[in-house]
Amino acid sequence: MRIAIASGKGGAGKTTVATNLAVLSAEMHRTVYVDCDVEEPNGGLFLKPTGLQSWPVELLVPRVEREKCLRCGLCAQICQFGALISLRGLPFIHQRLCHGCGGCAQVCSAGAIREEPRPIGTVVEGRAGELLFLEGRLEVGEAWSPQVIRALKKRIPRQTTAFLDAPPGTSCPVVTTLSEVDFVLLVCEPTPFGLHDLDLILHTVRAMNVPCGAFINRWEKDEDSVERFCLREGVPLLATLPDDRRIAEACSRGELLVHSLPEFWPLFVDLFTRLLERTDR
Ligand code: SF4
Ligand code: SF4
Repeated sequence: MRIAIASGKGGAGKTTVATNLAVLSAEMHRTVYVDCDVEEPNGGLFLKPTGLQSWPVELLVPRVEREKCLRCGLCAQICQFGALISLRGLPFIHQRLCHGCGGCAQVCSAGAIREEPRPIGTVVEGRAGELLFLEGRLEVGEAWSPQVIRALKKRIPRQTTAFLDAPPGTSCPVVTTLSEVDFVLLVCEPTPFGLHDLDLILHTVRAMNVPCGAFINRWEKDEDSVERFCLREGVPLLATLPDDRRIAEACSRGELLVHSLPEFWPLFVDLFTRLLERTDR
């Protein structure tokens, strides 16, 4: 079972929900928490994993051996990303624009292009008690978040309940995270901006045909715009976490709510049960 926790913007409370659910689930099932927010992973602040191991994520990029080049220009013609241009027949490559598709090496019959790995990020693995912890980290200045996320997802063990903490927004890294998950929990705040961002991420999730439900963070009883939206759109509202100063303080100290504020433990148990029902497990 793979459950993604997503929201249309950062700071909505995704990591709070994902880490608390993962810790709770690990008491009953083999569970992995997967931090797919590779540009700014912060689940480790709450889970405090130990025994960390890491593996590089690499992109295969071309290198031209000029002495072998026949100056045919085919490699520049095949490159769809403007990363390889031909100057007087000789190819020049902009490494940061290269998508590592391998097209230029394939068309070069002279064998003048060889592919070399370039590090673009890291996958980190550790343990937080019974919970397996996975985190992706994108190298500063790199733009290949989806490649790092794909490498991260490959390390999810089979027959494990996985909670994927998605990057914020609705762009390619989010789509990569949400692909092949069983359910998406949409975390949002009951504000006009929160409602707008929920609408955006809901469009993405529906386009991907993944079942979803909503979680309202910082819920206030006098503000029901998100509840009305969910009702109108047919999105099941699975849980609400109240706007409570103690929650904000616990999060700022990097504490898990299921540990530091036990009165919220039943809320996460109930949410977890509902997620199990929704994913038929
Ligand atoms: S395809 Fe090969 S031989 Fe032709 S220009 Fe490119 S590197 Fe040179
Ligand atoms: S690997 Fe692909 S993107 Fe990179 S230079 Fe070659 S054709 Fe262009």
